[in-house]
Amino acid sequence: MAIRTILTAPDPRLKKKSLPIASVDAGVRQLMDDMLETMYAAPGIGLAAPQIGELRRVVVLDIDREDVKTGPLLMANPEIVEASDEDATYEEGCLSVPEHYSDVVRPAKVTVRYLDRDGETRELACDGLLATCVQHEIDHLDGVLFIDHISSLKRNMILRKLLKARKEAERDEAEGKPAGDKPKPKKASAAA
Ligand SMILES: [Zn+2]
Repeated sequence: MAIRTILTAPDPRLKKKSLPIASVDAGVRQLMDDMLETMYAAPGIGLAAPQIGELRRVVVLDIDREDVKTGPLLMANPEIVEASDEDATYEEGCLSVPEHYSDVVRPAKVTVRYLDRDGETRELACDGLLATCVQHEIDHLDGVLFIDHISSLKRNMILRKLLKARKEAERDEAEGKPAGDKPKPKKASAAA
């Protein structure tokens, strides 16, 4: 397994549509394992393949909260086959939009169909944080970020800040300043 670099917005690869997996072979299992390790290291509760620059329809999730404990979920070609009329609002974060959070409204309950690590077709009924997270990850496979669900005013503000932070980091690196003394994000991570 290997920890991969997580792309951050505004990276054009995050806006691309990912391609379906033909079959869950050794390469896909390797990708799933790398993604899980990368997600735990971040730390995050979900990760989609395009976030590490792989435009393939693979997501991983592991939610361990008081109300939801999923264990590791590895999904190829996940698709929502049923969604509730009822909506829920969660404050979302994303490993590709570091340190920014915003309320997003999505269907409260969804059923997701996917291929697991053994290539078996599975269906999972999701609600609460898991329902939100599954939809957030599948959005990534279609080039959609959670900030695409909020006002363009707020989205552009966040993108400008991310671009500025990246330029500062690149400048520090060019000047040989050590990275890594940045203050930790104030919030316990629920990024995906
Ligand atoms: Zn995300």
